[in-house]
Amino acid sequence: MAESKKKCRQYSVNCLKFGFIESVSDKRLPLCLLCNRVLSNDAMKPSKLEDHLRRCHLDKRSKDLKYFQTLKEKLQKRRTMDRMFASTSQGDDNGLQASYNISLLIAKSHIIGEELIFPAVEKVLKTVIPKSASDIIRRIPLSNNTVQRRIDEMSQDVESFLCDYLQTTHFSLQLDKLALTRNESLLLAYVRFIMNQEHHEEILFARILTTDT
Ligand SMILES: [Zn+2]
Repeated sequence: MAESKKKCRQYSVNCLKFGFIESVSDKRLPLCLLCNRVLSNDAMKPSKLEDHLRRCHLDKRSKDLKYFQTLKEKLQKRRTMDRMFASTSQGDDNGLQASYNISLLIAKSHIIGEELIFPAVEKVLKTVIPKSASDIIRRIPLSNNTVQRRIDEMSQDVESFLCDYLQTTHFSLQLDKLALTRNESLLLAYVRFIMNQEHHEEILFARILTTDT
C-alpha cells in the first residue's frame, strides 16, 4: 500500500514536471496547467506529457518543478474560491456575494482592464443593485418638491427667454378668458411671433381674475 502511494506520488511529481496534474473529474486523465486541456489516459506518460509541453508551450519548456508547483497551488486556490462562491450564492447577503464574485474574477485574471473591470462591474450590477435599488433611487432626488422646483427653474428659463425675445421682435397678443369652477375666471395671454423663419404661439401668462365670472 505504502509502495503504491509512493509510486503514485512519484508519478504525479513526474506529471507536474511537465506542467500536468490529475484531472478532478477523472484522476486517470492528465490536465495541463498551462492550457487547462485534459488529455487522454493514453497521454499519461512522461514522454507524451513532455511532447505536449514542447509542442504547445515551447516558451515554458525550461520551467522548473517549482514553477509548475506554484501554478498548481494557484489552481487549487481558485477551486477553493469557486467552492466558496458556490456556497455563498444561496445566501441573502448580496454585498458579500458581490465581493466574492469580484474576488473570484481577480483571482482568475491576471489582466486588469476590459477583462477584469468590466466583468467586475457587471457582477456588482447583477448582485448588489437588485438588493439596494432603493438606496440608489434615494440618491436620485425626485421628491414632489424637488421635481416642482426643477420644473419651475426650467420654465423660468423659458419665460425669461421669451420675454427677452419679444422685446426684439413684433408679436401679436391674444387674450382669452377661461371659466373655472367655483365662479372663478382665468385670464390667458398668448403671443404669436416669428422666430427662425417659423411661426410660434406661446402662452405668455395665466392669471386668476380678481372679479368673478
Ligand atoms: Zn497545455
